[in-house]
Amino acid sequence: MKRAPALIWFRDDLRLSDNPALHAAAEGGGPIAALYVLDEDSPGIRPLGGAARWWLAGSLRSLSAHLGQHGVRLLLRRGPAARIVPQLAAELGAERVLFNDRSGAAEGRVDDEITEHLRREGLRVERFCGHLLHAPGTVLTGAGRLPRTFAAFHRACLASPPPGPPLPAPGHLAAAPTDLASEPLESWGLEPERPDWAGGLRLAWRPGEYAAQTRLAGFIEEGLAGYEQGRDFPARPNVSRLSPHLRFGEISPRQMLTAVTYAGDAAPGSDALKFTAELYWREFSHHVLAAMPDMALRNIQSAFDAFPWRECPGELKAWQRGLTGYPIVDAGMRELWQTGWMHNRVRMVVASFLAKHLLIDWRAGEAWFWDTLVDADPASNPANWQWVAGTGLDAAPYFRIFNPVLQGEKFDPRGDYVRRFVPELAGLPAALIHKPWTADAATLRHAGIRLGTTYPLPVVDHAAARERALRALKSTKI
Ligand code: FAD
Repeated sequence: MKRAPALIWFRDDLRLSDNPALHAAAEGGGPIAALYVLDEDSPGIRPLGGAARWWLAGSLRSLSAHLGQHGVRLLLRRGPAARIVPQLAAELGAERVLFNDRSGAAEGRVDDEITEHLRREGLRVERFCGHLLHAPGTVLTGAGRLPRTFAAFHRACLASPPPGPPLPAPGHLAAAPTDLASEPLESWGLEPERPDWAGGLRLAWRPGEYAAQTRLAGFIEEGLAGYEQGRDFPARPNVSRLSPHLRFGEISPRQMLTAVTYAGDAAPGSDALKFTAELYWREFSHHVLAAMPDMALRNIQSAFDAFPWRECPGELKAWQRGLTGYPIVDAGMRELWQTGWMHNRVRMVVASFLAKHLLIDWRAGEAWFWDTLVDADPASNPANWQWVAGTGLDAAPYFRIFNPVLQGEKFDPRGDYVRRFVPELAGLPAALIHKPWTADAATLRHAGIRLGTTYPLPVVDHAAARERALRALKSTKI
């Protein structure tokens, strides 16, 4: 007797290996159909930003090719998932629908609605946790609540049953008949055309599962040794740059955790431990999002609701374009614009600069990152913005204000990072590159710099901005 197909619905899990939903579908042995839905219509679902849309196009192309090697066609449909998924399941005559859960509340509501609907129709719906090491709601204090600090959360994770070993990619997939309608990827307009601003992204990245695994292997070989110290220096090759791959689920945190933990002689244990702790920061952000779904919109610490943020579009624009006059801030913002990514240390510096030096609401920065980061993540982006702004859970206190000159001198001591992304300052010696306004006229002339013309003067004075931020904090009695 011909078996009814299983429908696997891909979402933030665009990979074949360690994909619990796909693994379960393949183990059933029956025919499989694969679906991706571009859902920009369901209430509460945040549409992807420009850079993430570019990444998604490459990732879907890669997944489609990968599935194609097994004879399985990836069906693409656009519209509200609550309509599309049941419709396709019916067209296919599917008996099972399988997918991996996401952490957002709006996504959860859509998934619950679809689950209920399909079950009423007599289909089996199977849901898995493939995007995180521990499912939200399973890491709790003794009192049954989400731990409020990262340290407590991390401890609770380590005391929980460990995530099992990653699942292999299925050796064989039986394809369901694939004459069903699928939309051409190009019709979704995910990639920019006029203007085509994605040239820098194409140079910097290759989306897809294969590229993710290659990057992980390269990082273990060349970047992991020295990660604990080197991860703070943006010009050093000590970070993995796996975040966009992880964002779209081209690699799983379990694969990364396992590979790094068993890297053996590749690096001292402290480097591996530091790296896995960062994976738990990601985990913490997702668990917070599941508990506080409007984290991108509201201060987690509501005392900040009365904070006197400034409205100043000109300064916001200077920050977005990398024209603040503070070289480390400008280098970071230009790295973001050119490559769709920014080093973590510099993300902290630029975010602090926006929220504290310019007193601009962190939500404006979060929105800019959302649109320009290839790894823009619904949990990690707002959680980190709130952490830096001091409004979040277990956040850096607002009164801790980074000095952008000292941060540059400490973490980019030779100025290599600034020279790369702010080439108009490249002729300055290392001692002056993070504070060009202190250079004398002859040095500036020699370096070909006219301050205020070829490179801006600082948009605010650090000491005055710091005092202003502290006054604002006091006035809100936080
Ligand atoms: P590695 O150092 O190699 O770390 C490995 C992985 O651990 C990362 O890929 C990431 O998944 C996770 N990780 C590392 N640091 C953090 C962190 N602080 N919080 C959560 N997870 C972390 N990360 C995103 O993935 N998406 C975002 O939208 C995002 N927005 C951010 C906004 C701000 C203001 C700040 C300060 C940080 C943000 N981060 C975000 C966290 C961090 O900057 C990036 O995850 C990291 O720079 C990615 O580079 P990597 O893969 O080389 O990291």
